[in-house]
Amino acid sequence: MESKTKLYIETYGCQMNIADSEVVASILKESGYEITEDIQLADVILVNTCSIRENAEQRVWGRLDVFRQIKKKKPQLTIGVIGCMAERLKEKLIEEEKTIDIVVGPDAYRDLPGLLENAGLGHKAVNVLLSREETYADISPIRLDKNRISAFVSIMRGCNNMCSYCIVPYVRGAERSRDPKSILKEVSELFEKGYKEVTLIGQNVDSYNWKDENNEKFSFGQLLEMVAQVSPTLRVRFSTSHPKDMSDEVLHKMAKHANICRHIHLPAQSGSTRVLELMKRGYTREWYLDRIKAIRTILPDCAVSTDIMTGFSGETEEDHLDTLRLMKEVNYDFAYMFKYSERPNTYAARHLKDDIQESIKSRRLTEIIDLQNELSSKSKKEDLGKVFEVLVEGYSKKSKDRLFGRTSQNKVVVFPRKNYNIGDYVQVEIIDSTSATLIGESVN
Ligand code: SF4
Repeated sequence: MESKTKLYIETYGCQMNIADSEVVASILKESGYEITEDIQLADVILVNTCSIRENAEQRVWGRLDVFRQIKKKKPQLTIGVIGCMAERLKEKLIEEEKTIDIVVGPDAYRDLPGLLENAGLGHKAVNVLLSREETYADISPIRLDKNRISAFVSIMRGCNNMCSYCIVPYVRGAERSRDPKSILKEVSELFEKGYKEVTLIGQNVDSYNWKDENNEKFSFGQLLEMVAQVSPTLRVRFSTSHPKDMSDEVLHKMAKHANICRHIHLPAQSGSTRVLELMKRGYTREWYLDRIKAIRTILPDCAVSTDIMTGFSGETEEDHLDTLRLMKEVNYDFAYMFKYSERPNTYAARHLKDDIQESIKSRRLTEIIDLQNELSSKSKKEDLGKVFEVLVEGYSKKSKDRLFGRTSQNKVVVFPRKNYNIGDYVQVEIIDSTSATLIGESVN
């Protein structure tokens, strides 16, 4: 029997890319490919790439060096670059790196079987067409995760926000929401397969907006409730929210369903309204704090995390202090913190100077990280003595006698295994904490 073509997929970047690689695996499996996790066995290597910051692309160039060495020994190997970097650089990728055979953007994955077939005949190919409709709604992703407990479910693609520093709208195209029926089908199938948690993902889930053939509208709040009603034992998470669009409706739906996890990721980026205007974020510091107040009022036990970008064009010391003050006022549980990295062709790159010295960017980032470390450790200390329901995801890195999982607030907890297993819900009392995790003891 003829052996199948072996496909190796390497994924970089965000949750959307992880979900996309699972769609790519499904499309190619349907066309007779076999997924391998061993790069040496691969006939086809696809690297799913990220362009959000310069260093993300640098990492991919580094991998391409490795692939080139493998191809020297295996000339028939086909190498493909897919995802956001493929969309940003297009043909230039093939011009700059001769070992690349195909370049495919995030909306052209259905074309992969044909492009790979042509590449096999020696024809290099590029498809970076962006779509206003494509959501891959009819494709059942092949799960590439190991734990079979938690899965990403894409509910929309693209973004219409055009934040001045962001490359996403240029590489992922205009926003489009996915049919709620297909989302519900995917979630129900995951639940039947034994998955215990789904994370609904989109660049800005709060602007999810579907109208069906009877003109009936579906908001994100309605979708969230529909997914939560699949089963009370299925945990539901979502990411990423947007302060300008996050509605009280969503918060009330969360309050109504205990299985919708008590964690909201609400990127602030800056605490200065002046900088938020330059970033074209579409909200002020006061509006952001009002959203936080709504969360604290409707969902008192909800954890809040954020994204902070420091060193944006024209950021003054006072703007920076505004960001530190905002972080203290919100009292974040954790945050992702970055220095501004100018991205080509964005509004900021075309109209604003990247005028903050690297040393100042680094010093401000250090101050932000130091503050967040204080806030995160305070948040963990406040959990001491409390009992949380933990969904077990795996063994602790340090010992097979200890398990790890996350609370509804998305905090990682490590505790002694006893007779529990991966996939169990366990009541755990928090007895200690480290900088990264909570330490607990099961109580039931
Ligand atoms: S909301 Fe802004 S930062 Fe987020 S993906 Fe869209 S344009 Fe980029």
